[in-house]
Amino acid sequence: MQEILDRILVDIQPYFGMGEVADYIPELAKVNPKSFAMTVETIDGKSYSCGEFDQKFSIQSISKVFVLSMAMELLQDQLWERVGREPSGTAFNSLVQLETEQGIPRNPFINAGALVTTDTIIQHFSNPYKEILSFVQNLSQNFDIQFDKRVALSEFQNSDRNSALAHFMKSFGNIESDPMTLLDVYFHHCSIAMTTQDLAKSFLFLANGGVNPPTGESIVSKLKAKRVNSLMLTSGLYDNVGDFAYRVGLPAKSGVGGGIVAVLPGEFSVAVWSPELNLSGNSLVGTKALELFTSYTEKSIF
Ligand code: GLU
Repeated sequence: MQEILDRILVDIQPYFGMGEVADYIPELAKVNPKSFAMTVETIDGKSYSCGEFDQKFSIQSISKVFVLSMAMELLQDQLWERVGREPSGTAFNSLVQLETEQGIPRNPFINAGALVTTDTIIQHFSNPYKEILSFVQNLSQNFDIQFDKRVALSEFQNSDRNSALAHFMKSFGNIESDPMTLLDVYFHHCSIAMTTQDLAKSFLFLANGGVNPPTGESIVSKLKAKRVNSLMLTSGLYDNVGDFAYRVGLPAKSGVGGGIVAVLPGEFSVAVWSPELNLSGNSLVGTKALELFTSYTEKSIF
């Protein structure tokens, strides 16, 4: 496995410089565009990495998987009255479908859907910031993981579109919280800074039927783990989900910080980070690295 990761590090070199770092959140644009890291964690405790795997980066939309997992535990099937389970076919921050679909977002991984799941967390906990952070720290067993306050603030200062989504859904009665509070919690969980090692560890429960291997703790039921993985497969990669499934063949979630994390149920989780994005907002080199990974290892869900 280590040899494969080392080989990928060589093979991806020609792909740097072909994408663009996200700059609509100015703080994200300060990152070195040529950064790269990759980590594989197996459910039986083995860990393999290459590149800058001790470098923290902004997980952005990947946090939507954590919040969805929490919301599914809290609301059970009632959650699906407020958010759908279909790919959107539109950009992650689009407003268009919400008008015709009565304020019900297509899925929990577009921004509108993640605002709804975040709303449920706010409604259930007196300190939603702490609950979300503890959830992530516990999964990765790294209690130093924190919000990156500069990234959260930077996003708040450029939040017209997310703000529009929150207010628009509230007008349909699908948001209960105050929109400013909702946006602040949402931007904070998007700002969580993690390494590829942290991220791969924090997704192991989805590779292991809902149980976090290092602690043996059940995070979600086996059925819910299957469902979260299914949602990642159909909606986890923005508007590029079909192409990603074709090339990589694993359920995964990406973020505009350049992270992508994928799982192979029963075996491992794999996280990759490279900040230059393709036109759909997925890490360009990261996607290539995962494509090479499933080709070289011949391990995918298909
Ligand atoms: N915080 C980002 C936003 O709402 C998340 C986007 C993403 O990673 O897809 O725009």
